[in-house]
Amino acid sequence: MREKLLRFMYGRNGNDALNRFLIILGLVLMLLSMFLPSGVGKFFSLPFLAVLGYAYFRMFSRNLYKRQAENAWYWKKRTAFCSSFRLLKERWLQRKDYRFFSCPSCRTTLRVPRGRGKIKIVCRKCGTSFVRNS
Ligand SMILES: [Zn+2]
Repeated sequence: MREKLLRFMYGRNGNDALNRFLIILGLVLMLLSMFLPSGVGKFFSLPFLAVLGYAYFRMFSRNLYKRQAENAWYWKKRTAFCSSFRLLKERWLQRKDYRFFSCPSCRTTLRVPRGRGKIKIVCRKCGTSFVRNS
């Protein structure tokens, strides 16, 4: 039985990080469709089936190149999401000692010490300078 399964899965994508995410997302949608009042819950039952169907499709897919590209895309988004969240957390922790401005020309976030009055801020990325109250 085990060997049969192994032979069946040979050359197929199997489980990857994106699939684990999809399965968790599918379970959340399933719980929402089960526990919300049926009028609202029914709006989650179709996405739940679609997400789980897609996860199964990816698991058994033989187009490894495409599935790996999807997985890489997922990792890129996930990393970007986590690092932006970390940045927000750091800004929050430093809010008493620093002020944050974004450069008017390149949108880079710049950190300046608080309580220095009006100061000229020079963007270290593009060199644009602007005056703000710290
Ligand atoms: Zn700039």
